[in-house]
Amino acid sequence: ARSVSLPLPVLGADVRVPLVTGGEVSYAALDYAASAPALRRVWEDVAAYAPYYGSVHRGAGYLSQLSTDLFETSRADVAAFLGCRADDQVVFTRSTTDSLNLLAAVLPTGTRVYVFETEHHAALLPWERQEGVSVTYLSAPRSPAAAVRTLEAALAGQAADGPALVCVTGASNVTGELWPVRELAATAHAHGARIVLDAAQLAPHHPVDIAELEVDWVAFSGHKLYAPFGSGVLAGRADWLRAAEPYLAGGGASRTVVRAADGGVDVAWHTTAARHEAGSPNVIGVYAIASACRALTEAGFDALVEREQELIAAVRAGLADIPQVRVLSLFGDDAPRVGVLSFVVDGWNSSHFAAALSAEYGIGVRDGLFCAHPLVRTLLDSEASEPGECGAPDQAPGGSGSLNAIRVSFGAGTPDEHVERFVRAV
Ligand code: PMP
Repeated sequence: ARSVSLPLPVLGADVRVPLVTGGEVSYAALDYAASAPALRRVWEDVAAYAPYYGSVHRGAGYLSQLSTDLFETSRADVAAFLGCRADDQVVFTRSTTDSLNLLAAVLPTGTRVYVFETEHHAALLPWERQEGVSVTYLSAPRSPAAAVRTLEAALAGQAADGPALVCVTGASNVTGELWPVRELAATAHAHGARIVLDAAQLAPHHPVDIAELEVDWVAFSGHKLYAPFGSGVLAGRADWLRAAEPYLAGGGASRTVVRAADGGVDVAWHTTAARHEAGSPNVIGVYAIASACRALTEAGFDALVEREQELIAAVRAGLADIPQVRVLSLFGDDAPRVGVLSFVVDGWNSSHFAAALSAEYGIGVRDGLFCAHPLVRTLLDSEASEPGECGAPDQAPGGSGSLNAIRVSFGAGTPDEHVERFVRAV
């Protein structure tokens, strides 16, 4: 393997795992899209802070004051990382799923939501269960330009009055393909709609600047951004967040609570991000996210992108040489993408294939439908080979024959040896 200087080392490089064929090998973590390893720098920051841990917003002692300060400084660091506008709020959540469910919960009554059927379930499913919210599911576009046209047609067909929200991914967790976020935001705004960006897969690989992309909200998860300590972010416009009932009721969200004359309680809720952060917050997780944001900014996305594009090229070239491999793509070979790629292998059950990569080569990938069932089914169908061509008896007749796919994903800290071993193993 060529030796490269990795801009951001991660934990786990020395982990050795047993092989079914005997012996052991260093673990090749190629499932960053599910959860990325912690940056060494994040781990060191967390370890340095841990002895000083204290309650946040709830203590007069020195360590409580310190923790409160770190918590709020972390909020400012995340706001800077995302290029937030002056009146944006940064709300700390558990994850992208939690962030998008929070946004769904604060939608004004009567909001029309537009979402592509290709979204991750975290972005696809939270809206419909909200009372007073209607959802339009947009069919899978086969190019970025088609995505913009599809949204334009859907919004143009609706009356422009009343609140509307578009939810879109920045980078697909299945194909790694980038979506035309700025164009979709402009289209949404031209029709009076707002837009939330699911940046779970984009933020670890590219700068996400709210003001520059002109999106209204951004959601992402710490554990995909090299900060696996249980927190996430929803950042963006404050008005709907402020106007809605708190996501959770409890301490921290409430400013004053008094017994009311009618025997109940009168509550004045905070109007800051604290409104939706009831309960003792996860300061370690939040500090870890801020540490990752600082580390990524300091390393510079240019260097990260350049390195990642080398890895993507190596994987794609390697797989292109294997005739039985079909790479899944919505937008085609030339689409810009991040280090996430899904494929099927003719004659193979994807789960068996992924299990073999683990057991025989110490490579960790993911198999399945990747919490994006409509998208993966569409891609598998459109990868159709001749009906009946499929080999394994437990695969579906027709189409590509595959019921699910294999996903390989990587990023900062991935050495050449991991992707070389992967291509060789396939
Ligand atoms: N959106 C996308 C594009 C994702 O890839 C994921 C995670 N696979 C999510 C949302 C949900 O993230 P989490 O599981 O951290 O809530």
